[in-house]
Amino acid sequence: MLKKSIVTMMTLFSAVTPALAAVPGVDSSAEGTANGIVAVSHPLAAEAGRSILQQGGNAVDAAAAIQLSLNVVEPMMSGIGGGGFMMIYRKDSNKIDIIDSREVAPANVTPKLFLDANGHPVPFEERHTNGKAVGVPGTLKGIETTLAQYGTMTLNEVIAPAIDHAEQGVTVNWATAKYIQNNIQKLQKFGTAANVFAPGGSPLKEGDLLVQPDLAKTLRLIKENGSDVLYNGEVGEALVAEVNKRGGSMTMDDMRNYTVEWREPVRGTYRGYEVASMSPPSSGGLTVLQILKLMEGYDVQAMGVNSADYLHRLLESMHLAYADRAAFMADEDFYPVPKQGLLDDRYINARRQLINPSAATPSIQAGDPWQYEDTAASAKNVPQEKKPTGQTTHFSVMDRWGNLVSYTTTIEMEFGSGIMVPGYGFMLNNEMTDFDAEPGGVNQVEPGKRPRSSMSPTLVLKDGRPFMAVGSPGGPTIIASVAQTILNVIDHRLPLQQAILTPRVYSSSYPHVEWEPGIPQEVVLELLGKGHRFAEKPDDIGNVQAVIFDADSGKMYGGADNTREGTVSGVDGAAFTVSRPQPAVPPMEAVFTLKVNGLTYPYTADQTLIKDGISYIAAAPLTLGLGIDRSSLTANTVVFDGQPYLPVRATAEALGYDVTWNDSERTVLLAKEMEKASDQVEKAYQEDKFKITR
Ligand code: GLU
Repeated sequence: MLKKSIVTMMTLFSAVTPALAAVPGVDSSAEGTANGIVAVSHPLAAEAGRSILQQGGNAVDAAAAIQLSLNVVEPMMSGIGGGGFMMIYRKDSNKIDIIDSREVAPANVTPKLFLDANGHPVPFEERHTNGKAVGVPGTLKGIETTLAQYGTMTLNEVIAPAIDHAEQGVTVNWATAKYIQNNIQKLQKFGTAANVFAPGGSPLKEGDLLVQPDLAKTLRLIKENGSDVLYNGEVGEALVAEVNKRGGSMTMDDMRNYTVEWREPVRGTYRGYEVASMSPPSSGGLTVLQILKLMEGYDVQAMGVNSADYLHRLLESMHLAYADRAAFMADEDFYPVPKQGLLDDRYINARRQLINPSAATPSIQAGDPWQYEDTAASAKNVPQEKKPTGQTTHFSVMDRWGNLVSYTTTIEMEFGSGIMVPGYGFMLNNEMTDFDAEPGGVNQVEPGKRPRSSMSPTLVLKDGRPFMAVGSPGGPTIIASVAQTILNVIDHRLPLQQAILTPRVYSSSYPHVEWEPGIPQEVVLELLGKGHRFAEKPDDIGNVQAVIFDADSGKMYGGADNTREGTVSGVDGAAFTVSRPQPAVPPMEAVFTLKVNGLTYPYTADQTLIKDGISYIAAAPLTLGLGIDRSSLTANTVVFDGQPYLPVRATAEALGYDVTWNDSERTVLLAKEMEKASDQVEKAYQEDKFKITR
């Protein structure tokens, strides 16, 4: 059931079914530590953080060292050319603060920034690799501010590992090699970055040495001068000149005026736990909490991990929550966000009644959370465009004193805008493309505004004390990854590492579902039968790094994701790096293909056969995929080699499909107009056997 590779997991756990301790997420056979731990997407950045903890630094010191190292060892994901949200739990005051170092729009922009001469949005591919896409970066100011406020070390000390890595070079790992290869055209568009990542035109490969002298120079300048060299000095001047050269309109005043903001987390309860997550300008925390609170109305544990019953309700909950996200969530310094209303129990209960247990609902719209607020405002909704998913990085840290950091940090897409500051060696974000290209909504481009984010650094608390720090990259999929990790730990009682490696799904609106390798075929078929449409191929979703604290034993545990070289490193043990997943062996090609309303259904060679010119599919998978009650079709069943099959044409025609056979493609095509949304949804919801009745 684990995504990617079970082999990897077997090396981490002594037993296939780990023994569960009283604390969810803790596998009693796993090694913990009492003296501090980090979970990071790259082993060298993890080591930078671990060594700071070992030297006596606290979680904030370690987080600063990790971020600066990531800029060097994972330069395509985050760095001083980007922004992020660092959530800090301080043990002494039992408080959570967040430093918001999100990029802001330069002063000289209008809501029409991304429209062409005819008033149409410039295509994403074009607009994200342009100076206009670059927001004024915040990461360095964020680190400097948190170090000054809560750190015990100086920038001078925590920047040392990053400078070493940039000067001496780091070995390119499989993940970095893959991202360089996938983005080669973007890197070559402006040339500067290609000289670093694809010298002489050849993309660096796994095992090659990545040396970054220009970046080392910049880090040394920062070491000597602090963030001033970026916000009011030569590095900033080079940045602004490059942005303007590439079509943007940033000024040194934009750099000088950049401020980080302290934010309060949004908070909500989930099955006796408290979840504190990222507030606006991120949509992350509110949307994660909405999904959890919708799912709280079901007996999630009884449904089972990644069962069709579970995933159907989860996908429907996502549709409800993401519809509200699009309508109501943006930079709260510009538009009020109905934070109470969105999480009000009465609102959530009413929204949950829109979930039909037996079918996907096509017509989900945003609700009206304002009715549960004291003040009212209307939603300004614009259609949400489907954009490629961004990438980022998330890491979690806990120190020996019990302070935690949950930090999601980004330059938006892999390698951001593709623009590297010449002579200074760091990538610039394309965060401005997180604004809607279309004016009119709460998330339109405006000067000095922060684009709506999905980043969701999260802390889960029990009895007022944090027990888990978690987060993920992946643009809007972040929300789904964080919610699923929490559900896997709290409801499904999976040990943290398994909770992370369990395959995830994502869908922001009906009917398209993205999914990770490892979701069983019968589950996919059953969900197709309920009206969801799965991407034809699974793909990775997110990259979760988390830590858990077991207050009873005083031990800390970490979990890391294998979509990159995720690494957990405790000060005195509890260390591992996940291995690269083995590519799945593709199943033998089916005898013919079945396409339903244009979508290929995943039947395999042993489930399909043609006899005397008639196509058959094994009875159980066919009825699952078409969403029909098997008993009603028994009359048609034919037995071959002891296995029951159904004739495709006769079965589908009985269900009202038009059936055609495409000989050249050996494909049976089924077509039917989708049924209108049922007005019986509320009744169906009331009869849901997994609904918790209070
Ligand atoms: N730009 C994204 C956001 O703020 C983060 C990057 C990503 O992982 O997609 O939501």
